[in-house]
Amino acid sequence: MPQLIAGNWKMNCLSAEAIALAEAIAAGASGITAELLVCPTALHVAAVAKALAGTAVAVGGQDCHQATHGAHTGDIAAPMLRDAGAGWVILGHSERRQNHGETDELVREKTVAAVEAGLRPIVCVGETADQRSGGQETEVVGWQLAGSLPKPFDGVIAYEPVWAIGTGKTATEQDVAVMHAFIREELVRQFGDAGQTVRILYGGSVKASNAVSLMAVPDVGGALVGGASLNAEEFLTIARAARAG
Ligand code: PEP
Repeated sequence: MPQLIAGNWKMNCLSAEAIALAEAIAAGASGITAELLVCPTALHVAAVAKALAGTAVAVGGQDCHQATHGAHTGDIAAPMLRDAGAGWVILGHSERRQNHGETDELVREKTVAAVEAGLRPIVCVGETADQRSGGQETEVVGWQLAGSLPKPFDGVIAYEPVWAIGTGKTATEQDVAVMHAFIREELVRQFGDAGQTVRILYGGSVKASNAVSLMAVPDVGGALVGGASLNAEEFLTIARAARAG
């Protein structure tokens, strides 16, 4: 399976900037064997999907509500994202877990809703700096995996150590290898053989300068890229570092 290089644009770009960024990525994507995905803010999913129609670059949301519709002021339902042209959705990002109090249970409900709407979920897990310095990183990630994933699970995991997100600090290749091997074991424990084929992305200050070494780590199925995905050339350089399969 090719590696997946996903850009999380977070709360960035006005509409013209989002469209220009998407077009620049699509224009540079020829010859790239990785699967490419960009996740603009929900407001821009439809415009970005329109700009990327017929290209190799897919579009995703950054969150969705667990209900299909109803009295949820300000929220976005998974079928709405799908209707706007999204094929994917990021769920349980640490910024949602921290800033919006999202629990594993809620992330699991959102994941079910996403799959039912025809979206492919990217479920994020990862420990804080304190949890890692306390030696609890695998325990924490194990609990997150056990609580956040529905059975069966048809999606992708992103391992994103919270201390590496937007900080310029990257997990070492050894840390990534150890954690991805642990996540793989947990997936197989939870889902049997189906757990062998779930892609596990690494996220946390991935940039052009470290992508080659991070994408070569065993069992890294791609990258979830924040800051560096806002620059088309840098994002494409990361994608060029990815393995074809
Ligand atoms: C992210 O927010 O998913 C992320 C990995 O951000 P950054 O690449 O900026 O660390």
